[in-house]
Amino acid sequence: MTRNFALAALAGLAFSGQVNAQDECSLRIEGNDQIEFNKEELTVSASCSEVTLTLVHVGELEANVMGHNWALSTQADWEQLAMDGQAAGAPDYLPEDDDRVIAATDVIGGGEQTTITFDISGLDPGGSYMFFCSFPGHYSLMNGEFIIE
Ligand code: ZN
Repeated sequence: MTRNFALAALAGLAFSGQVNAQDECSLRIEGNDQIEFNKEELTVSASCSEVTLTLVHVGELEANVMGHNWALSTQADWEQLAMDGQAAGAPDYLPEDDDRVIAATDVIGGGEQTTITFDISGLDPGGSYMFFCSFPGHYSLMNGEFIIE
């Protein structure tokens, strides 16, 4: 893993100065059966107008017992939104048509994956954004910082 990461970083340096939308504007994150994301932060380039995010559930448990989604909100809003999402219930565990939701995937179960594309042109580079899973009981364990730089 470490070696691959280092190679990827070198490749990134080699191509610095070129905009590579595929790499800079695409994100991948995994969730597992232990209520964990595999990343505590995600970074995208401020040059991206749209970001494509793929959530992969690498566990085996069904969506009704170990569902995961990936939702994005501001640092100020995300915790209350997560609590309101739990109250909203299945299938999305997010309030409907809520302006605090910047982006959100479907809720998936083990062995599934889902991809969304969303617009970040209205967000502030350097602003404080958080991603989380809104499945009941998960947000305090499954969250991280979304960085635009
Ligand atoms: Zn979850």
